[in-house]
Amino acid sequence: MISIKRLLQDAASIVMPRNCPVCGKPLDSDERFMCRKCHMQLPVTHFHEIDFNLMEQLFAGKVPIERTAAYFYYEKSSPYASLLHDLKYRNQPQLGRWLARQAATLMQPSGLWDGIDVIIPVPLHITKLAKRGYNQSQHIAQGIADVTGTPVKLWLKARQAHSSQTQKDKFERMQSAQGLYLPTRQATAQLQGKHVLIVDDVVTTGATLLSCAQALHDAIPSIKISLFTLAAARLE
Ligand SMILES: [Zn+2]
Repeated sequence: MISIKRLLQDAASIVMPRNCPVCGKPLDSDERFMCRKCHMQLPVTHFHEIDFNLMEQLFAGKVPIERTAAYFYYEKSSPYASLLHDLKYRNQPQLGRWLARQAATLMQPSGLWDGIDVIIPVPLHITKLAKRGYNQSQHIAQGIADVTGTPVKLWLKARQAHSSQTQKDKFERMQSAQGLYLPTRQATAQLQGKHVLIVDDVVTTGATLLSCAQALHDAIPSIKISLFTLAAARLE
């Protein structure tokens, strides 16, 4: 006879992945998204502890940025790349929220979140949002808010759908991201003199974050801007 408990466990295993997305090992009952070993070996960037870190250097001389941080390093060939793949393409937005909560807790003692008034996720264009069903950056933003209590506001709009960025070189990506984002009317009205944290899933060339930061800075010159991503492509 099938017990109620068994039925519930089976139902839960359909809803939640029961294997570690990094190493493939079955998860213990107290491991929710990643096994303990893979979590401990996560290649953390420690950017939040480094002045003028590699991420900050991407924006130097382009737009004023207060602080930058990314949780872990990302390489296409690394087993940790599957975290980002699951988050974006395999309907796992809760994985992003959980990872962001881990990052927020780790980085909180450094003072990274101090004085941040509003968290703004990088938006997806509406056609892409309709296709995917969720904006992964919004879930990452929510994970930080879970720890810091800072409000998340959807105060950036994407002007047009991105064509695939992967086929373009660095310069083309920088060009194509320019002018893609616009602050909403609420942003312009309420962010004078405020400190905002722009959140995205990955930083590679920095083109997307730069475009978002420039859009906010152009509309609201008194704004302070910090940046957070879940992952950083190995920056050279
Ligand atoms: Zn694992």
